[in-house]
Amino acid sequence: MTAAPAYLDSLNAEQRRAVEFGVGEGASAGPLLVIAGAGSGKTNTLAHRVAHLIVSGADPRRILLMTFSRRAAAEMSKRVERIAGKVMGTGSGVVADALTWAGTFHGMGARILRELAPHIGLSPEFTIHDREDSADLLNLVRHELGLSESKSRFPTKGTCLSIYSRAVNAQTDLDEVLKTAFPWCAMWEQQLRTLFGAYVEAKQRQNVLDYDDLLLYWAGAMSNAAIAAEVAGRFDHVLVDEYQDTNRLQAAILLGLKPAGQGMTVVGDDAQSIYSFRAATVRNILDFPAQFQPPASVITLDRNYRSTQPILSAANAVIGLAAERFTKNLWTERLSNDKPQLVTVKDEADQARYVVERVLEDREGGTVLKQQAVLFRTSSHSGPLEIELTRRNIPFVKFGGLKFLDAAHIKDMLALLRWVENPRDRVAGFRVLQLLPGIGPASAGRVLDAMAEAEDSVAHLLALPAPPRASEHWDGLLEVAGHLRARSGWPSDLYRARLWYEPLLEASYEDAQVRHADLLQLEQIAAGYPSRERFLTELTLDPPDATSDQAGVPHLDEDYLILSTIHSAKGQEWKSVHVLNVVDGGIPSDLGTGSTHELEEERRLLYVAMTRAKDHLHLIVPQKFFVAQQSAYGDRHVYASRTRFIPKALLEFFDNVMWPAVKPAHIEGLSPQIPKLDITAQMRAMWVK
Ligand code: ATP
Ligand code: MG
Repeated sequence: MTAAPAYLDSLNAEQRRAVEFGVGEGASAGPLLVIAGAGSGKTNTLAHRVAHLIVSGADPRRILLMTFSRRAAAEMSKRVERIAGKVMGTGSGVVADALTWAGTFHGMGARILRELAPHIGLSPEFTIHDREDSADLLNLVRHELGLSESKSRFPTKGTCLSIYSRAVNAQTDLDEVLKTAFPWCAMWEQQLRTLFGAYVEAKQRQNVLDYDDLLLYWAGAMSNAAIAAEVAGRFDHVLVDEYQDTNRLQAAILLGLKPAGQGMTVVGDDAQSIYSFRAATVRNILDFPAQFQPPASVITLDRNYRSTQPILSAANAVIGLAAERFTKNLWTERLSNDKPQLVTVKDEADQARYVVERVLEDREGGTVLKQQAVLFRTSSHSGPLEIELTRRNIPFVKFGGLKFLDAAHIKDMLALLRWVENPRDRVAGFRVLQLLPGIGPASAGRVLDAMAEAEDSVAHLLALPAPPRASEHWDGLLEVAGHLRARSGWPSDLYRARLWYEPLLEASYEDAQVRHADLLQLEQIAAGYPSRERFLTELTLDPPDATSDQAGVPHLDEDYLILSTIHSAKGQEWKSVHVLNVVDGGIPSDLGTGSTHELEEERRLLYVAMTRAKDHLHLIVPQKFFVAQQSAYGDRHVYASRTRFIPKALLEFFDNVMWPAVKPAHIEGLSPQIPKLDITAQMRAMWVK
């Protein structure tokens, strides 16, 4: 017998059991659930398991590995590479490159559906709509049906999309969704049914899929035994991280892939379930074992390797007040005397100043900016801090906020590429045509109608006469469309598209210079993708984040502070963590206090935020807090109080500080030579007649 590989020695007994579970039994190993608290090494264990499978002979191309973001998937591949590559002595990057099926659920869905397209009534050139595109299409359909909101007070396009998405992801009937989550829209049930039916048809006709469809069509395809067997036959192992944040469709897909659970491993933490607004359900992880016959094996981990004891105790105390919880309290060997700080500041401006001072102090002390993060409940909460950081020239990257791709000019360029890729995509066509001076919605609609009739619609476009008033720019559009259709090169295609677009950009935006820089950035990003199709798909599914430079990704050698919503901070860790607005109305958000269910999720959010910290944790409580309210009174400041999730009884877990520390007023007293003055007597004298 050969000696066990050295990487197994770094694991504790339970982690090792999870890593070695069923390895060597081939594909017959039953399903495995690793359920454990934050920082207990779930992700690390999963990476080791994948590496161990590969070292033990599994084919990395037959491993489906799904994580919460593409970034997380890339990190996981790198870790697997580090562990397995060394043992196997392969060249650098070989193992990671062979893990071709590592990504997000949606990304993997898109790839599988492109192959399955001809069998499920789609054409392989389908394009993917992001939320905004979906809302636009829904809006178009709504207008066609005469359900416009102004006259009838019909729900807005955004609300319609939320309702649709909720029903689809939760696999729940519309009346149930309306009753539980959108009661004020219940009177429109019939119209919504008509709208959603027409929306589904429009997508099919235009050969577009939205985010939800990637799961829905995938799950639908898996319900056909022959297709399911074909797809399932490609994977010997299916592994999922952050399983607590999957929804029922995702669970159905997994079950379709591995009905008996062989080769399936999922890991997660019920105490960190924070995505129920996307119909994720903690039931998925709790019900996982019993889905199978025999039931899945369950391994729990209870040692935390991330945080110091005082941080962990505080986090345990906060989650200890939760109504319902499966995972147990964690312990750690990382002793420290520094309790987490609970810092009261005057207002959000002071909060920003406090954070900047602490961040700089920590940097002086040797903690680089990248090892520090500032977390917040809602993207807009970081506004004052972003201003302060910019003023003091401190570079930062923001995750989970406004995306690079949300900028109008970037969307214009992508719409052009998408439209040429799939000329039936009406939302893209509308956007592109209306870039031309002289073309409004009506004439754009006529062009698109004419194209919709034709078999090869780009050819048809090229043959169309210029709409009246648009003749000046028409030939330019036809030329670039013809060029892109010929697919002469990637990413040089994008360069051609930019040359066409830039004169229009200069005519319509004052800050064309900045936008020009973004377009160059887009070309750089594009160079990292093998084809136009992969670029469009992956960018839509997982767009790059915003930075202090307005757009794109900062230079990797640069040091920068991380700003992130708590939702986007999932799975990550930093030496020092600041959490903003730990007040009622902040966490819990004033939107999240409707039901106990929502409130419990807000509590878990605070737990997720706190458990990101390794060495230092600061929770900040501004006494005055800005509430963006959609009320008749507009936005306003309110006097806030410490979050209800840290009641008095938990204060002992924190260092409670006021900032700035109020200095006692100190009066020296005047010199005895100064004469005494009786002002009161003078005042009184004024009234004496
Ligand atoms: P989360 O719930 O936040 O996703 P997790 O359970 O996935 O956390 P990891 O991110 O895998 O936890 O691990 C947390 C930290 O603990 C990482 O820095 C990891 O390297 C470290 N770690 C995990 N297991 C061990 C171990 N056996 N020995 C030393 N360090 C470990
Ligand atoms: Mg993790």
